[in-house]
Amino acid sequence: MKALEDAQAYVIAAIQPLGTSEVPLAESLGRVVAQPVVVREPMPPFDNSAMDGYAVLAADVTQVPVRLTVLEDVAAGSVPTEPIVVGTATRIMTGAPMPRGADAVVRVEDTSSPSRDEVVVASSVRRGDNVRLAGGDMKPGDVIVVPGTRLTSRHLATLASAGIDPVVSDLPTVAVMSTGDEIVDPSTPVLKLGTIRDSNRVMLMSMLNELGVPVLDLGIIGDDPRELRSAYETAADGADVIVSTGGVSMGDSDYVKQILSDLGGIEFWKVAMQPGKPFAFGAVNGVPLFGLPGNPVSTFVSFEQFVRPALLTMMGARYVMRTHIEGTMGEDVTTSSDRRVFLRVYIEMDDQGSFIARRSGGQGSNMHLSLSRADAFAVIPVGVGSLSAGDHVTLEMFRWPEGRGFND
Ligand code: AMP
Ligand code: MG
Repeated sequence: MKALEDAQAYVIAAIQPLGTSEVPLAESLGRVVAQPVVVREPMPPFDNSAMDGYAVLAADVTQVPVRLTVLEDVAAGSVPTEPIVVGTATRIMTGAPMPRGADAVVRVEDTSSPSRDEVVVASSVRRGDNVRLAGGDMKPGDVIVVPGTRLTSRHLATLASAGIDPVVSDLPTVAVMSTGDEIVDPSTPVLKLGTIRDSNRVMLMSMLNELGVPVLDLGIIGDDPRELRSAYETAADGADVIVSTGGVSMGDSDYVKQILSDLGGIEFWKVAMQPGKPFAFGAVNGVPLFGLPGNPVSTFVSFEQFVRPALLTMMGARYVMRTHIEGTMGEDVTTSSDRRVFLRVYIEMDDQGSFIARRSGGQGSNMHLSLSRADAFAVIPVGVGSLSAGDHVTLEMFRWPEGRGFND
């Protein structure tokens, strides 16, 4: 058996990052930034009011109440014309430029206006109160996104504010196929004895969608050498990465092995992990190929451990592994000790704010239900074999539960 970390290191070392290009901001969600994003202008671009109220000289309102003459009104989007001098104020809206001379804003709630051109200020302010200074958010030359960052909606807002289209890494197109004579389309209403619906492909395509990479769907391929060979060739023609499921375990017909040896070379490993021990990695006409085991949970784990990090590496991401957090096992578990075990668990928070992990259902590698209910893997290292309720455990998060009712 091959240690998981050795298998992962081998795969990552074989992966080449893709090129880069500038993309319109609105198309950059989930893309990985390839060059530091540097701001050209201050943001905010000008000193402006943080409140609806009155722009004043702070020195004028140290003794309150005090009556000031209102010079003008400035709405957001318009420009003040009158400088503030002793004894004057300007009615100002949130986001409007500060008048020259003014150094603070009094909130409208802290004023009354006996007439259109007068205001009575009821509380004092200090210089700078309720004023947003130019450059207070970002300054010219600031690096606002570092290379390797996957862009979120919040990054996009920041880039929009700075008026910048990012340079991002190109996306790998990933060909996906399910293999197996027993596999039928999910839309099959009545299953003939011996057949099962293809659950891997939609899962893989969805995981790829979550990563934002284009997918080439090659459908279900029977255990037939000619069919398989032509599918792998089509995949290599149209994609940067090939992911197939099934046909890599011991009992399988050796087709995949034969074909892939002809087409570019492949290694079949027994990886010291559970689920997901059988795994094949190679290339078809130079295009990396991941041969994942057919059982759906093995497919999921193998995708998480090998394919996802490899794709993120191609995409230039700085971090390619899921977040690990420290949690507590909520129940006793016994597992094999010769492999790293990934238990499907759901997470609850106890009164102390600790994450408590409990199995989300049966742990067979064919069992979908516990996978769909899981938030994380409880990762049990090689050599441990059993944990008791209350023991610390590493949680590899693939879903962050929302709210408290997350066991669904
Ligand atoms: P294999 O890796 O081809 O030996 O398949 C292992 C197990 O996974 C068998 O029980 C297969 O029927 C099942 N399996 C293979 N491919 C799929 C698939 N696409 N969807 C659901 N189950 C599958
Ligand atoms: Mg099979």
